[in-house]
Amino acid sequence: MNIYRSVGETRAACRVLRASGRRLGLVPTMGALHEGHLSLVRAARAQCDAVAVSLFVNPTQFGPTEDLAKYPRPFERDRALLEKEGVEILFSPSADEMYPKGEGTWVVVDGLSEKLDGHSRPGHFRGVATVVSKLFHILEPDAAFFGQKDAAQSAIIRRLVRDLNFPVKVVICPIVREPDGLAMSSRNTYLSPEERPRALVLRQSLIRVEENFRAGERNAARLSVAAREVFAAQPQVRLDYFEIVDPDTLDPIEQVSQPALAAVAAYVGNTRLIDNAILRD
Ligand code: AMP
Repeated sequence: MNIYRSVGETRAACRVLRASGRRLGLVPTMGALHEGHLSLVRAARAQCDAVAVSLFVNPTQFGPTEDLAKYPRPFERDRALLEKEGVEILFSPSADEMYPKGEGTWVVVDGLSEKLDGHSRPGHFRGVATVVSKLFHILEPDAAFFGQKDAAQSAIIRRLVRDLNFPVKVVICPIVREPDGLAMSSRNTYLSPEERPRALVLRQSLIRVEENFRAGERNAARLSVAAREVFAAQPQVRLDYFEIVDPDTLDPIEQVSQPALAAVAAYVGNTRLIDNAILRD
């Protein structure tokens, strides 16, 4: 595996690779890798001839009071995991390399960026859309792999690629969970031993909604009430949002007549976690 820190070297290496006729798959990450990330790497390996991973804790997607400084950065461990997965290119730039001084160009996906997490984290999706656009320009992948875990992010990237004509196939991979159902996240390491079991309430609320959906409930308001009841039984966890929305537009829906996204975010102590499920017949 070749490790690159600079934009120029990375672009050159990716171009050499693609010039030999190999399809390049990109997996963008912020590191602190877990099985969720590795599932994306494996999907990229299965669908492409070579895999590049970017490892960059993107400052522009963190708000001023968020966890940018304390976000875990176990570079050596990440490097070893990716080496074992047969990744060809690891792009791990500094913040200065990615954002030259005086930068002022942003990518904003109007209409989606302020929904769900974008509502609670103003500016977050502007940072995500901008860094993903930059990564697409730097590595020029044929396909890029993202997790359904970040459902709003997936919708935004699909829209971004469509609107700006990026020649990149976007592949969304299923959520990987811990054995007890908690969605894997780099932020799970923040949870104290007391908080860890409480975090299951996110998944439990989704399971309750899926059960009610399967039992025939199609009214989104009533489905959401059921989810809130599950949260009410776990008062130490603060619900940020529970919403049932169109998976493409992220607009709230009233009656679930086609596949809908049930999305949840909550604070377990100071740790903000998200999860979701697709409701479909
Ligand atoms: P992050 O490092 O948190 O920015 O995540 C990098 C990529 O991994 C994103 O596309 C996430 O959606 C994806 N990802 C994170 N957690 C999971 C998970 N539990 N299952 C599947 N994909 C995930």
